[in-house]
Amino acid sequence: MKGNINQPMNDYDLVVIGGGPGGYVTAIRAAQLGLKTACIDNQKGEHGKAALGGTCLNVGCIPSKALLDSSHQFEFIKKHGGDHGITGNIEIDVSRLQKRKRSVVKNLTQGIAGLFKKNNVDWLKGTATFLSPTEIKFEKDQSSSQRLKPKSIVIASGSLPSEISSLPVDNKYIFDSSGALEFLIAPQKLCVVGAGVIGLELGSVWRRLGSSVTILEALPSFLEASDKDISKEALKILKKQGLAIELNSVVKGTKIVKRGIEVSFVQGGVEKKDLFDKMVVAVGRSPRTDGLELARAGVEKDGNGFIIINEFNQTTATGIYAVGDCVPGPMLAHKASEEGVLVAEHIAGSKGTIKIAHVPWIIYTWPEIAWVGPTEQALLKSGKKIITGKFPFAASGRSHARGETEGFVKIIAEKSSDEILSVHIIGTNASELISEAVTAMEFGASTEDIARTIHGHPTLSESVHEAALAASGRAIHY
Ligand code: FAD
Ligand code: AMP
Repeated sequence: MKGNINQPMNDYDLVVIGGGPGGYVTAIRAAQLGLKTACIDNQKGEHGKAALGGTCLNVGCIPSKALLDSSHQFEFIKKHGGDHGITGNIEIDVSRLQKRKRSVVKNLTQGIAGLFKKNNVDWLKGTATFLSPTEIKFEKDQSSSQRLKPKSIVIASGSLPSEISSLPVDNKYIFDSSGALEFLIAPQKLCVVGAGVIGLELGSVWRRLGSSVTILEALPSFLEASDKDISKEALKILKKQGLAIELNSVVKGTKIVKRGIEVSFVQGGVEKKDLFDKMVVAVGRSPRTDGLELARAGVEKDGNGFIIINEFNQTTATGIYAVGDCVPGPMLAHKASEEGVLVAEHIAGSKGTIKIAHVPWIIYTWPEIAWVGPTEQALLKSGKKIITGKFPFAASGRSHARGETEGFVKIIAEKSSDEILSVHIIGTNASELISEAVTAMEFGASTEDIARTIHGHPTLSESVHEAALAASGRAIHY
């Protein structure tokens, strides 16, 4: 690389700070559009080596899904293998399962490095801080730094696990989500703090692998953001599987004792204590915006530390954009990436926007949970006149063939126009099924449009079709 700290290098059209799904997608799309692009990232992967992909590929979406998939297969075969004629002693080797997870992560992070090469994106391995509204300091290590003065800058610095001061992560007894992806033995008794998406997914992994898991959740309600029909069904199924989900339980502190970790919590006003081997703190994530010296650039944050942006993801400083977990909105990889595409195209001259309302939410428990659009409760509260169609997987031929019949699809549409307002699914492969709903809503489709669309047989997607038919009282199989 040319230049030194006294001489800013100004060859780049764009410098992206962060190589997660927000940052690397921005960089690739910008390069496709002909912008000379660099991406600065300081994420470390296996053996402390620099690795692209951010939280998502290294300690988030991908490793958690690898563990969820392995542990689901184990539990499914153990519980239902006999029904499918699979016999024999089924055992799990957690260290091999972890090895597989590491190789999945390595393949994918190296894949991003390959995409950078293919698209001529420069990967600058190190840390970025702002020097001014137009200049960045790139520190490769403590002894070498470089000033960069690109035409545009995108901040995609992501997020970190939120902390509770009374539950300090020590990676011996108390872990955050990253630590909970690394256990080599399933803890006997595991306490998870927070029944959000991450708490439910990690709690499910370790329960399936043999831990007795208790999830302590401060709120009196379960999965507050989801439709009540979904949260009620999910709570029933997850409890039946053996997850002890304790609502209205505020964790206050811990004490390390001879036999493990003693957790104090207040449940419905009553002080309680319980003993565990390990604890996972999964109380949400916070934007990673400290340390970037944003004030020097004139980039303003809101009261929660998120970078303030407009509909084009422009910050309060000219020429500086921000995408992903460091800006307000759903902290989801696909939302971060879509913002990245939008911003790269905006810098190259087009003016698209994305509909945050059409971002699908997915929880990879089993059954999976997915939705797009507002809950029935929110729609009724806003005074909307609606119709709903519901179809249970218990009435689906494919669900029976798979031996997985839990859950349902629920479609909500506006009464007068029949336009689909939201879709809520709990069931096998809900994560894949929700895409049809998102596409339909992007095209402003009605339940009649889905009802008149031919779905393959026998598929789980027929349940989406049937739910659309049910909205006008004409489901065939229920
Ligand atoms: P990140 O992925 O956090 O990337 C930011 C990058 O910027 C990091 O590499 C960081 O090291 C780097 N960086 C930060 N500051 C600097 C700096 N000053 N200089 C250089 N580099 C810097 N989302 C989903 O959609 N689906 C899922 O299934 C899912 N599962 C998850 C499971 C877990 C356990 C966790 C923790 C998260 C999960 N998420 C999931 C959330 C998802 O990981 C995030 O929404 C996503 O990674 C956000 O992308 P991002 O690019 O904004 O930030
Ligand atoms: P999410 O933000 O979806 O990851 O969910 C995090 C969950 O943790 C929320 O449902 C919070 O209510 C819950 N939570 C936060 N602090 C505590 C606490 N001290 N004890 C129990 N649950 C908590």
